[in-house]
Amino acid sequence: TKMLRSKWREGFEEKIASLDRKETWTLTPDPDITLKDLGPEWRCCRITTFAKFKCSECSNSWGSAQVLILFHMTLDRRQGRGRVKVRFFKQQCRRCEDTRFVNPEFLAPNIDVILDKLVSQIRKKCYRENLGENQSPFIMDEELEGPHESAHCEACKEGVCEHRQDLVPRPTSAVYRQDPESIILLVVVVVIILWVLIIS
Ligand SMILES: [Zn+2]
Ligand SMILES: [Zn+2]
Repeated sequence: TKMLRSKWREGFEEKIASLDRKETWTLTPDPDITLKDLGPEWRCCRITTFAKFKCSECSNSWGSAQVLILFHMTLDRRQGRGRVKVRFFKQQCRRCEDTRFVNPEFLAPNIDVILDKLVSQIRKKCYRENLGENQSPFIMDEELEGPHESAHCEACKEGVCEHRQDLVPRPTSAVYRQDPESIILLVVVVVIILWVLIIS
């Protein structure tokens, strides 16, 4: 929505102004940027945050703490300007099996945290300032259920999501992978073998 966009832009301009640099910066949405295709002189940063989604086809709405935002940024000191492109990764509604992707809606306090993180990345990667780690946690306003649904996540489909479920290795031993019945059967067989050995 328009309001959200101005919230992003105004917040960004405010934070950039507080840096007291002479360059002017712009923040523009670009749904085509990817993690790999980065032009020369461009830096990138990705932020994962909480957002809400509302399907336009049915009444379904949901929240996700694994919403990826990708930023490309560049500073041209000679022209006195910096540019940031932003892409918000979408998710699909799982209830109506519509193939269209839904745009995330961010909570105002999270936009503020995201912009803080973005501006520190600009200071580090474009102005080469030496900053410590700053960890502001994101705010979630609802209980989240279940694991991340990779099947409905745009970032997962492009292989850039940090929470891709099918990529998480399961560190389970051979025995744990069996179902409970076969573990009991295994124990019974071992006990019988031991018993036979002791008897003989
Ligand atoms: Zn739906
Ligand atoms: Zn994902």
